[in-house]
Amino acid sequence: MAILDSMLKGFVGGVHPPENKITEHGGIETAPIPKKVYIPFSQHTGKPACPLVQKDDVVKIGTKIGESEGYISVPVHASISGKVTGLISHPHPVLGCSLCCIIESNGGEEWEQSITENADYETLSKEDLVNAIKEAGIVGLGGAAFPTHVKLSPPSDKPIDTLIVNGCECEPMLTADHQLMLEQAEDIIKGARMFQKILEAQHLIFGIEDNKKDAAKIFRREGLEVRVLKTKYPQGAEKQLIKAILDREVPRGGLPMDVGCVVQNVGTCYAAFQAVAFNKPLIDRVMTVTGDGIKTPKNVLVRIGTPVIDLIQFCGGYTGKPKMIIFGGPMMGIAQYSEAVPVIKGTSGIIISTQAWDTEEGPCVRCAHCVDVCPMGLMPCEIYKFVQNKNFDKAKEYGVLDCIECGCCAYDCTARIPLVHYLKYGKNEVWRLSK
Ligand code: SF4
Ligand code: SF4
Repeated sequence: MAILDSMLKGFVGGVHPPENKITEHGGIETAPIPKKVYIPFSQHTGKPACPLVQKDDVVKIGTKIGESEGYISVPVHASISGKVTGLISHPHPVLGCSLCCIIESNGGEEWEQSITENADYETLSKEDLVNAIKEAGIVGLGGAAFPTHVKLSPPSDKPIDTLIVNGCECEPMLTADHQLMLEQAEDIIKGARMFQKILEAQHLIFGIEDNKKDAAKIFRREGLEVRVLKTKYPQGAEKQLIKAILDREVPRGGLPMDVGCVVQNVGTCYAAFQAVAFNKPLIDRVMTVTGDGIKTPKNVLVRIGTPVIDLIQFCGGYTGKPKMIIFGGPMMGIAQYSEAVPVIKGTSGIIISTQAWDTEEGPCVRCAHCVDVCPMGLMPCEIYKFVQNKNFDKAKEYGVLDCIECGCCAYDCTARIPLVHYLKYGKNEVWRLSK
């Protein structure tokens, strides 16, 4: 199979920001157990989990502290052993503030007894596998944090022929998925095979960008089908990945299952395998801590609920006065206002920057750069004006709900208009007004 075999199809638009992957090939280091964790009950798309613990309860690693509420929801678990010291509203990387369980460490490593090897996992039925994945609190680890059990349960009239494993990690600066593929390929493959069995998908294809050919080689050596894709942002977005690999277009407002496809991130495959083969809930994840504002950028295995300040200390501290702390990558990440904000399941990276965003917004010069780079074929220059004028009907007509919030338009805007903020706001308003 030729390298870059999917270059001919590709997706329209996209940008080529500087990669700045300075932590590339930096082995995964394990962060120390935090003295305190702040575990939000809302870390996933869907309803927040319902608290099962109260102040002064004693918990072990893996104790379920929040129960899922409904179908699109997952439980949350204690990531350290110790005592619950409170349930409070606390800074949250996505929601601003949210209900969190504070656990103070007892200094030990006491795991729930149920977290042991399940040697018979391969004999489990599809239903038992899906249930184990849900009970372990597994969500998509690429950033969207959508409950994995839901993606693995398409309705019977939507048969899935292809499972795509997403190893693109197209956000600049982030290298956690790349390093996970290099260090844990065997378990990623086992997780992917398990997903393939659940979905009864005939085809399993790994999608990896051409800046990670070493990872692609590992999977090819194992006899897997790998498509090496051009390094272009947002290659790892679901709809763009499906277009690049299968030349199928997810319909407007539709889902990958509408074109017989499911996409799962490599980290999700790994976490789901751990959940089923070792009964291990999602209590930690691999992420990248990087940027010019941190002394020793690293790929780190971190307990969920660890405050960002602990990770900054683990990475040698600040290089100078930080101007921004961003959760996620530079294209889609969210700027934070507090060092107390904790790592959650969907945190793929943390960027510490000594540079502030350029907020000098000028008037639109009708250059159409934003139109050229939009991978969804939208006209951001028109939509943002509708949003500015609170004409949400027109914004909807021009496809604001199709925006995947990739940030390409804002990145390439000549006038430095924060287009993606307008589009996000417009989407929220259209949803709010339609309720
Ligand atoms: S943020 Fe939305 S409008 Fe802007 S380029 Fe991405 S998909 Fe298009
Ligand atoms: S890129 Fe910016 S300046 Fe150019 S048309 Fe779009 S909104 Fe206007």
